[in-house]
This record gives sequence, C-alpha cells and structure tokens, in this order.
Amino acid sequence: MAGSSETDWVSRFADEVIAEAERRAPGKAIVCASGLSPSGPIHLGNLREVMTPHLVADEIRRRGYECVHIISWDDYDRFRKVPAGIDPAWAEHIGKPLTSVPAPQGSPYANWAEHFKAPMIAALAEMGIEFHGISQTEQYTSGAYREQILFAMRERERIDAILAQYRTKKPAAGQGGQRQVDEAEAAAIEGSGAATEDDGSAAAGYFPYKPYCSACERDLTTVTSYDDETTELAYTCVCGFSEVVRLSEHNRGKLVWKVDWPMRWKYEGVVFEPSGVDHSSPGSSFVVGGQIVRDVFGGDQPIGPMYAFVGISGMAKMSSSKGGVPTPADALEIMEAPLLRWLYARRKPNQSFKIAFDQEIQRLYDEWDALVRKVADGTALPADLAAHARAIGTAAGPLPTTPRPVSYRTLASVVDVSAGDSEQTLRILRDLDPADPIASLDETRPRLDRAAHWVTTQVPVEQRTRVRDEPDAELLESLGDAERESLRLLLDGLDEHWSLDALTTLVYSVPKLQAGLPADAKPTPELKVAQREFFALLYRLLVGRDTGPRLPTLLLAVGAGRVRKLLGA
Ligand SMILES: [Zn+2]
Repeated sequence: MAGSSETDWVSRFADEVIAEAERRAPGKAIVCASGLSPSGPIHLGNLREVMTPHLVADEIRRRGYECVHIISWDDYDRFRKVPAGIDPAWAEHIGKPLTSVPAPQGSPYANWAEHFKAPMIAALAEMGIEFHGISQTEQYTSGAYREQILFAMRERERIDAILAQYRTKKPAAGQGGQRQVDEAEAAAIEGSGAATEDDGSAAAGYFPYKPYCSACERDLTTVTSYDDETTELAYTCVCGFSEVVRLSEHNRGKLVWKVDWPMRWKYEGVVFEPSGVDHSSPGSSFVVGGQIVRDVFGGDQPIGPMYAFVGISGMAKMSSSKGGVPTPADALEIMEAPLLRWLYARRKPNQSFKIAFDQEIQRLYDEWDALVRKVADGTALPADLAAHARAIGTAAGPLPTTPRPVSYRTLASVVDVSAGDSEQTLRILRDLDPADPIASLDETRPRLDRAAHWVTTQVPVEQRTRVRDEPDAELLESLGDAERESLRLLLDGLDEHWSLDALTTLVYSVPKLQAGLPADAKPTPELKVAQREFFALLYRLLVGRDTGPRLPTLLLAVGAGRVRKLLGA
C-alpha cells in the first residue's frame, strides 16, 4: 500500500509512529489518542484534536498495521461553569463530575456529558472517523485505575517535586502574561481540558488524588491525611461533610489533570497524541506530563506535535443559538464530510487555517472541485493527491459522494433564486446542461442540501436574491437605443442558448456584437466596461440591484418567460 515517507505530513508522522511503536511494543496494536471534554458544545476548533491522530491512524491502517484511535471522553472532569443560554440554576452543580450534572432542559440524554457527546459522535461517524471511545467516568468509577492511583499516592512526594520545578518556573516562562485570544479560541481552549486546575497542593501536604464528596458530589474537598499502609484517606468538604475512605476500594475521585494525563499515556500505551498550543508551553501539562510519565510511571511520552488553532470565518449570528461557537455538526450541515476532512489533511498541524461559513466557502469548494478534476486527469501533485485520498475515504472505504457534483456556487445561486422550491430547483438544474440533463435532485445530493442550508442559515436576508414580480417600467422607459438593442440581442438569442455554457457565451457576446466585433473576440478594456454595464442593467431589471448570482445561473433560474417579461419584450 501507500508506503512513501515523503508524500505529506501524515505519511511522515505515520513513519515515525510505526518505528516508535515497534521499539516500544513490537507486534501490538498501535495506539493513537485524542481527549475531548464534553463540558459544553464541542467547538469545531477542537476537531483538530481528533483529526490529527485520525489521519495518522488511518494512514497506519492503510499500510496494513493494526491501529486503535482512542478518544478519551473527559466526562469525569468537574462541571466548571454554567454556559450562556442554560438555566442559571445549574450553578448548584458546579464542582460535580460532568456525568453527574443533569442534561440541559428538554434533552433526551441522561446527563450533561452524554448530551454534548452525542452530536460529536454523530459528526465523527459522518466523517468516517473510526475510534474507540473511553469514558473516564466509567474508568474511574469502576476502579480500573486503582493500582495507578495507589501508586501515584505512594509516589506523591516525587510528583510534588517535579511539579515544584515547574511551579517556580512559571513566572519566568511568562505564564502569567495575558495573551489576546478571541472568543472562539477561548472556547476551544476551555473545551480541551487545559483549563487551569489545582495540581493537588494542600495545607496538609501534596495529594495527586481529589475525591468527589460523598454527600454533595462536588470536588470542593480537601484531603487532610493519607496512610500508605491502610490506604485510608481523610477529606473534608466545604458542604460540612467529612469522612475517611479506603482508596483500595473507593471509586469516587480522580487524579489531578497533570498526573491523570501521563498516567493514561502509560496505561493505554499511547504512541501518538497531539496537543493544542495551550498544552505545549513551558510548564504546560504536556511538558510536565512527559517528565512524570518517564520519572514516576516508567513510561514514554507520546509523539505529540503541537497543533495550531483552527478559526472560523463568518459564522452568522443567526446560527449561534448554541452559545456562539460552531460545532463539527454545524460545519457538516453546510459542507460535505470530504471537504471538511480535506481542510485538515492539506495543512500541517502547526499551520492554522479557517473554516469558512461565509462567502469564502464557495471559493473553497471551487478549489476542491479543481483538485478533483486534476486527480481525475492525472495532473495533481503528490501532496495534493495524498490530501485528496485522505479526504474522500479511509482505510475502511470511500465516504458517500454527490453523484453529480454541480458547483457549490451554482447550487447556492439556484437555491437562492428559487427560494428552495424543489420543483423550480429541478427545472433549473435540468437546464444547466441540456446535453446531459439532471433527472432528479438526488443526483446533486448531498451537496445540494449543504448549499441550501448554507444559503438559509449563513447568507444574510439583505444579500439574498429576490426576482422582481413586475417589470421596472420606469427604468425600461428611460433606456437609450444602445441599451434597448443590447436587451433585444440577448432576448433574440435566449432560446438557442438555453444552457449554462451557452448563456455564458451569450451574455458576454452581446456587448461584442454591439461593438461590431465577432462573438469570440478577445476582451479589451473598453469591452470589459461595456460588459459590466450590460450586466448591471440586467441585474437591475431582473432583481432590482446592481449585482447578484452569476447571470447565466440567474437567467436559467428566472426562466425564459419571466426573463422576457422583466426585460420588456
Ligand atoms: Zn460536599
């Protein structure tokens, strides 16, 4: 299979991970990992946390190796704050594990974490991402980490000493400096489990384990003593409750984040786990974790590239009902899974990029369609070819595609002009190419549905096209001879040019014919001015504005009869 090490960044990481896995645990399934916190809607920016290991794991599988992509659901983390739009009464649950917090009102899910995991799981399935989900609530409450917890408690002085080096380094490393982050980036960092958390220091000493209170379920507890022999741990809670439990049988509590993460690297045998910029600064959990896994747990740190922030351009306010941050599910409503996969595959993890919710999505789709054509005619460059292959499918097979991938730009215009009416949409799509007419809307799905969703949710009402009901009599009346002639030339050619390509030729040729030039004359600056003026006139007469969707699409959409009427024939 594809074994070249020089094709793209994914191949290079796959080479490195396979070599490292052979060194660490020859013959065993290779483990790549991601961590997600379902503390709220999982931001589209956090998809990179999943896509980076997914692409590497997929390449490893394509080469015939067994590879597991773990997604750790950090659902045993504390509920930190009540997000905007949620009943403020949820504040009483702050400090409880996310799986002990009730789901938002009206949710069919059992708890807060499940409510926010579900749409992410659906989005990952749509994107063809194969993973093994591990609930940290299940792991901790079943006692799966018993030995590791007891071990960490025994080794608490060594852990404390390691953490201490970084605690004192902190100010010098500039950790206190406030970097400017926008709202979306802040939300992404918030969701990545990197939020500052206490590392286990307490008045009675250092304890890397924090119990959830048996009375109020919150983690507002303080460990007051621990006995290594009996494993008896005493704690008090701000609610007034206190008790002594035996850690050898107690299952309500967790290791603090900076110890929990390296513990799991060793426990799962993780060879590849990337992390966001927020994890990779000096004194960050990735760096500290590296020392803890080596010096305390006797394990290896994963190969962990730092990935840059993924931004969003132009998420319309109207779709921000879920707290202002788009999720992967939101993106999949306006673009097909292969396109979204391609955005991640073609950029190295350390390159930031934006996912377009604005007009830019049309250009992005044009670029994608151009790549698909290059791949088909064999002219794509190796790196582009690789990114394309990673976008359209996985080791398990191809992802669903649109049988007739009409340009997204055209589909958006058609939906815009037809206001979503399916009969009208089909009529227009059929006319695009009379030589090979589209027979059913299904041939253009799912791309058609994505474009339709984009127009209705992301294009502001004032930018939508409204075709005039009645001719603009005043404007028609005011036209000079040359303008009238241009309209007549267009109308005369309408019937024999009723397709997307032929109408394109027609609208550009009218100003040429008027200038006494042949229809295939090369454009001159004067000609371009004349064409612009002619197009503006058509827009004003058809939609009452100076601009609009591309004219050939608009003419097809409006229909020959109505075009005649509006142009005063
Ligand atoms: Zn309590």
